[in-house]
Amino acid sequence: MSLPIAVPSSKRPAATNSCRVCAPLGSVLAFRGLRGCMPLIHGSQGCATYIRRYLISHFREPMDVGSTSFDESATIFGGQSNLAAAIKNMVRQYAPEVIGVCTTCLAETIGEDTEGILREITTEDPSLPPIIHVSTPSFKGCQYRGFHDTVAAILKVTAKAGTPMSHLNLLPGPVSPADLRHLRELVEAFGLPLLMLPDYSETLDGPSLASYAPIPEGGTALADVADAGRAIGTLQLGATLEPGPGASLQRDFGVPLVRASLPIGVRATDAVLASLAAFAATDAAGAAAAAIPAWLSAERGRLVDAYVDGHKYVSGRRVAVVGDPDLAVAVAGFCAEIGLIPVLVASGALTHRMAPALEALGLAPGAFEVMEDADYDSIQRRVIELKPDLVLGPSKAYPMARALGIPLVRIGFPVHDRIGAGRILHLGYRGTQRLFDEVANALLANQQDSSEMGYAYQ
Ligand code: SF4
Repeated sequence: MSLPIAVPSSKRPAATNSCRVCAPLGSVLAFRGLRGCMPLIHGSQGCATYIRRYLISHFREPMDVGSTSFDESATIFGGQSNLAAAIKNMVRQYAPEVIGVCTTCLAETIGEDTEGILREITTEDPSLPPIIHVSTPSFKGCQYRGFHDTVAAILKVTAKAGTPMSHLNLLPGPVSPADLRHLRELVEAFGLPLLMLPDYSETLDGPSLASYAPIPEGGTALADVADAGRAIGTLQLGATLEPGPGASLQRDFGVPLVRASLPIGVRATDAVLASLAAFAATDAAGAAAAAIPAWLSAERGRLVDAYVDGHKYVSGRRVAVVGDPDLAVAVAGFCAEIGLIPVLVASGALTHRMAPALEALGLAPGAFEVMEDADYDSIQRRVIELKPDLVLGPSKAYPMARALGIPLVRIGFPVHDRIGAGRILHLGYRGTQRLFDEVANALLANQQDSSEMGYAYQ
């Protein structure tokens, strides 16, 4: 299941200060959430280096990624032999359980038949581990699309029909490792066995090891993904996904699909927990677990209390949100819930779905401005006009925020000018609590720093 093809929405000949990273990066991220998987980028060496550099500076974890290293000859005659040699080397050096092959712009531009080449390679050597291929040229979309197309490709070649089972499929989208761990905790609180795809909560936020593990522990086993077609349902997070990877499980295996916005804010988290409770209630054994657990009610209560305490600091302040479409939409919904005015919601991706998704979350049409397929040059021009008090976005929004003297609360990807990006919790009541405190404190800090009086407590 592929997302709609991105077409440029503007006549700009080039992006200035790009607000997107490339599609194979999203693919590598998703493949990192499969157990024992080595990602292999089919195309030029520089793409792999760029992708590794971005992922390492965000997650601060080692990141081995293979490349088929196109040279001049492969660029002209095709990279069949490069691909075969890379797979052979990878099997010898890493012994992966699965290899994830994604393509770069170069391989796609020359019209490489990667699928056909892989068929030949695997027919010639049946002892190879499973190889999953996804087409990810960046002229088709950015990291957001590469991520979801990879999840769709993994499900397409792996999920099988069979006797119904009692687990829930969770497709979380490109969230942080801390978010993935918290989502697991939420699902398990309802007594539901979980199949989460992908799960890089350990592979990209693991412990310090005595010796280097080229393929880190953790991730979802391919054998478990095979059971995705037998689940009691699929919960797919992401308000702009239309239809998203979970639709193929519904179409091919009749697995009920529930789509929800990322649980950021009280309302959005309530909705996701209500879905989990409903899934739990469909299973006789889980019926008893269908009530909201007491510890979650307590977290909700503390969050509402924080809203009451802090509303006077945030209410009526203007905010710009930048990020992946689903994150930007969910964060804007949270902002509206706490009385902030999300005047601008921007993304480098192109979905045509952000405005309707924001309206579905209750934001009044016309009260906010949406920019898709945006770069930071165009975002900055709108930010100057719209005069927000705060920006929520990744580190790449920092030069703009600094130039305009607006505080930045870092969310999403990439966050490479701070440590702990993998541990930023955005989701659930707990993640919202952290975000609310940070937003209120950023506004307070800016008010103090820009005041002649400063601050004193008598
Ligand atoms: S050439 Fe394409 S795939 Fe390679 S780094 Fe650039 S955008 Fe990404």
